[in-house]
Amino acid sequence: MSTLNALYQEAILQHYKRPRNFGPLEAYDVMEEGVNPSCGDEVTLYLRLADGAIQQISFQGDGCAISQASASLMTVAVTGRSVPEALALSATFRGMLQGGSPDPLLGDLALLSGVAKLPARVRCAALAFTTLESALARAALR
Ligand code: ZN
Repeated sequence: MSTLNALYQEAILQHYKRPRNFGPLEAYDVMEEGVNPSCGDEVTLYLRLADGAIQQISFQGDGCAISQASASLMTVAVTGRSVPEALALSATFRGMLQGGSPDPLLGDLALLSGVAKLPARVRCAALAFTTLESALARAALR
């Protein structure tokens, strides 16, 4: 994390230590597990969907600070969004991880923009969104 701005690093660690939307939902429409073998990160997402939107989302997981903070930030960012909006946000976020400039749409997810300079950690940061995309694809097939 040494090349991450110290302020960003602190904000990321706060999400890691006190994640938002952590723990399984009592009732959910889709559960999806994601793993990042290169780092050992795991994320399980629970989604409640209605009217083509993400009504509620939570996660459980284990892994490095970047992977877990990213999951916490992702759940905050997509709550209440329509499925197309969530997928667009995912594409924008992954573009940022590939070195694109942070889009205002990303909000606090831009805290992770420094990860683009850490190629070994890009998969850690992307895990929550790749798992979200799998969950939404599964939901579309129901
Ligand atoms: Zn990781």
